[in-house]
Amino acid sequence: MGGMSAQPRYTIAVRALCEFTAKTGDLDLRFTPSPTAQEGIAGHAVVTSRRGDDYQTELALSGDFGPLRVRGRADGYDARANRIEEIKTYRGDLKKMPDNQRQLHWAQVKVYGHLLCQDQGLDKVNLALVYFDIGSQKETVLQETHTAASLQAWFEQQCTLFLQWAQQELSHRAERDAQLKAMRFPHGDFRPGQRQLAEAMYKASKRGLCLLAQAPTGIGKTVGSLFPMLKASAEHGVDKVFFLAAKTSGRQMALDAVEVIRAGAPLLPLRTLEMASKSTACVNPDKACHGDSCPLAKGFYDRLPAARQAALDIMLPPASGVGATLLALDRDTLRAVALAHDVCPYYLSSEMARWCDIVIGDYNYYFDLSAMLHSLTLLNDWKVNVLVDEAHNMVSRARKMYSADMEHASLRLLRKVVPEELKKPLDRVHRQWNQLEKDQTAEYQSHATLPEKFMGALQTAATAIGDYMAERPSYVDADLQEFYFNALLFTRLAESFGDHALFDIEKSEGARASHSNSVLCIRNIVPAPFLKPRFESTHTTALFSATLSPWNYFGDMLGMPDTTAWVDVESPFVAEQLSVQVAAHISTRYQHRQQSLRPIAELMGEQYRRQPGNYLAFFSSFDYMEKAANQFAEHYPEVPVWRQSRRMDETERAQFLARFTLDSAGIGFAVLGGSFGEGVDLPGARLIGAFVATLGLPQINPVNEQIRQRMDAIFGAGYDYTYTYPGMQKVVQAAGRVIRTQSDRGTVYLIDDRFGRPEIQQLMPAWWRIERSAAPAQ
Ligand code: SF4
Repeated sequence: MGGMSAQPRYTIAVRALCEFTAKTGDLDLRFTPSPTAQEGIAGHAVVTSRRGDDYQTELALSGDFGPLRVRGRADGYDARANRIEEIKTYRGDLKKMPDNQRQLHWAQVKVYGHLLCQDQGLDKVNLALVYFDIGSQKETVLQETHTAASLQAWFEQQCTLFLQWAQQELSHRAERDAQLKAMRFPHGDFRPGQRQLAEAMYKASKRGLCLLAQAPTGIGKTVGSLFPMLKASAEHGVDKVFFLAAKTSGRQMALDAVEVIRAGAPLLPLRTLEMASKSTACVNPDKACHGDSCPLAKGFYDRLPAARQAALDIMLPPASGVGATLLALDRDTLRAVALAHDVCPYYLSSEMARWCDIVIGDYNYYFDLSAMLHSLTLLNDWKVNVLVDEAHNMVSRARKMYSADMEHASLRLLRKVVPEELKKPLDRVHRQWNQLEKDQTAEYQSHATLPEKFMGALQTAATAIGDYMAERPSYVDADLQEFYFNALLFTRLAESFGDHALFDIEKSEGARASHSNSVLCIRNIVPAPFLKPRFESTHTTALFSATLSPWNYFGDMLGMPDTTAWVDVESPFVAEQLSVQVAAHISTRYQHRQQSLRPIAELMGEQYRRQPGNYLAFFSSFDYMEKAANQFAEHYPEVPVWRQSRRMDETERAQFLARFTLDSAGIGFAVLGGSFGEGVDLPGARLIGAFVATLGLPQINPVNEQIRQRMDAIFGAGYDYTYTYPGMQKVVQAAGRVIRTQSDRGTVYLIDDRFGRPEIQQLMPAWWRIERSAAPAQ
């Protein structure tokens, strides 16, 4: 929804209007995989380049109907032929395009036709749908001539269909903003630090800047960030707040915070949606997303309007007298609504993202290559404020979003079973791949450029598979599909390959000695170029976490704007609560590990004897951890020892943590950066201390060394950006498990001489008072 002046006006994009009014029938993703965005843009360019000189592209048009303003850009207008064109790129057999999709395209071009007639005072116009086949580069043109009067009637009909909804939206927005303006902080008072965080958030939104907020545990970060962003929404004309979390637990905390806020504002109509991943939301995982396979896709658009309205009604505030509930559309509620209306929960949730004030979901929904919330933001011209929770995860998560790898062994298997038509293109990829392996003598090698011939072969194969599947919509082969999506991602990432990524090949022995195997990887190491435009299309993005130091590391790696503000929120904890000891007489360097086992065990034993209770001990690897635990158990058999094991599932993790009770005592041995190094909340006597026997530095290996060199070249800080900063973030996260509330007391041992260095200590929280523990007498 666009801005509102004195006369409330509802602005909607042509496409969004037609999707609302003219989409009927089945949900059908069969005519996809549609062309990639890049192919689409290229296809448009081919078509428009074939037109004459006076052909206008991207013609901005808009028109009003009552409180509605409908706007958009028509793909092309040929003034000489008086023809307005809507260009659609596709793959496969056009005849297989579902009829409702075609109707939707007509609906759009008719609206453009009306807007054009009105704009240029025409009394009739030719409307054309231009379908451009990516494969053959051929156009199929469907043309109709319409009078201005009939188009006007059409336009008015579409607007009328939408009007009631628009009015509902306008009054929701007015009521929401009025209530938000009047809303008071739910707890009456801010907790220490919470106010500082909230003010920084609000100010960032006021100035339309991005924000990095380092905010310690225990200040109520979630409410402290959502509350000011909601206030800001009303004051700064923000349409939506996206709360993005790294994990499911983060989504739950956001939902809880919304509930706290709503409980304090009984008249506030706030629509909150939790987005679950498609794989968890899908009810029929053995089906495909089209009406012939999945009953929840059949007639989806016919039942959507009722489901949509029901979903909204659920979120009405109880005081309105309509809904007696105080519900958010969390995943269970949404699923229940979807099933009551026989529509797919996942696609209903995508629809509801359009109509909710707060959308809670994973980072991916706004930041990855095909991020839905980002596309919707652009399409609808929304003004959004984005909150990124536990943002220290963003660097590694974003790198993953923009990386892809492929394994030769799976192509080898695939070649044997693919249909005849696909054998040749896959063989070509295979041959090129063999060549790459032959050319490489080392086990691992990284390259500054992409192998052209290989990429060419891969692109051709991807096109061939795409065409093949488009022509046979019912053909399903999971392996082929997986290879196809991988190849698409690979070629897509290849289009934007640059300094921010490595291309590397890692060879290994295959199942048979004659077959070497290898993994090719486009490995993003600096996500900045991808994320920068994402930040730019928000009003404010606020990243927050307990560990966001140093700022420049996050700013550089994530591509945050130069104007980004930062705040280091004061900790509610005081130095007296935590004794931080540096055991500088021990080295945990790889070559010193064996010798370190004994002094580490002694230090832990001493501490435990002085103060029995629950501790966590962190090591750099399972191997080191096991050895240390064995050594400790041997010397202190009376102390209970619990060990993290390699592949713990959720239940086993919960069991491990359940041992830490208010009256238990023992030491849990764990791996730094693993399941217990962050996100674990053991207040009071459940955890009274931690031993950290590692700086958490990533392993020195060929990949990391490549990254270091690249970081050095780009930022002049290779070692710190590759090793020190990521390592110390894990250390501080792990040590942060000890003090969870203002009444907690505890001890942290930082075991390694390097923890004594000033440049390392600078990366630790300011409220820590670091002492050096003397080496015990020998
Ligand atoms: S229920 Fe599953 S298979 Fe059916 S449309 Fe939804 S996501 Fe697709």
